[in-house]
Amino acid sequence: MPNISHNLAQIQARLHQCAARFTDGQAVPILLAVSKTKPVSAIIEAYQAGQRDFGENYAQELTDKALQLQHLAITWHFIGPIQSNKTHLIAEHCDWVHSIDRAKIAERLNAQRPAHLPPLQVCIQVNVDQQTTKSGVDDAQLPALIALIKGLPHLRLRGLMTIPDPNNPKPAFLRLAQLAQQFELSTLSMGMSDDMDDAIAAGSTMVRIGSAIFGQREHTVTIDK
Ligand SMILES: *Cc1c(COP(=O)(O)O)cnc(C)c1O
Repeated sequence: MPNISHNLAQIQARLHQCAARFTDGQAVPILLAVSKTKPVSAIIEAYQAGQRDFGENYAQELTDKALQLQHLAITWHFIGPIQSNKTHLIAEHCDWVHSIDRAKIAERLNAQRPAHLPPLQVCIQVNVDQQTTKSGVDDAQLPALIALIKGLPHLRLRGLMTIPDPNNPKPAFLRLAQLAQQFELSTLSMGMSDDMDDAIAAGSTMVRIGSAIFGQREHTVTIDK
């Protein structure tokens, strides 16, 4: 069993160290605990250790967990690929979405965001490496998608997200930071368990950490159709 509160404390310490080293020390990135495939009991354990932001990849899994944990003050982030027939679940149960990669998804989330909730906080996923297997818009499509989202009243555009080539993440992080600056966006969602330090050095404001908190995932059994 991983010691979740111990792992969280270690990562927070590392975040502070990296921020002190690479930035002016003022801007410590927000830690997103990626709890996909992990049980609700693990989320509760992290919550009791002070963790409030949680990330999930599957719409149905996120919905089930959010409903079970309604009594806790959790901020839910959706970080996985988005299927258009699941947007209503995301619009109803999330606070943040990091993985918007096309107009249709943005429009559906906007239309389905319940009126009593604040606007959905969103990032656009950018495929900065131009990896054919990864989702995300490429640079050329980014300005149009930014303009579209800015016109949607139930979404608030916060920034950009990327998943880099794990063998060479630095150029993608630097490129994403450049794009965020160019479009005056303040959130940079980048950095996972194995590349967190490089992401912070490049200016990450939100790191998404799973296995370093909750332990290695079993190969995923969750089906999201
Ligand atoms: C699973 C996942 C993470 C966390 O990855 P770890 O290597 O376990 O830290 C971060 N971001 C996204 C988009 C993911 O799917």
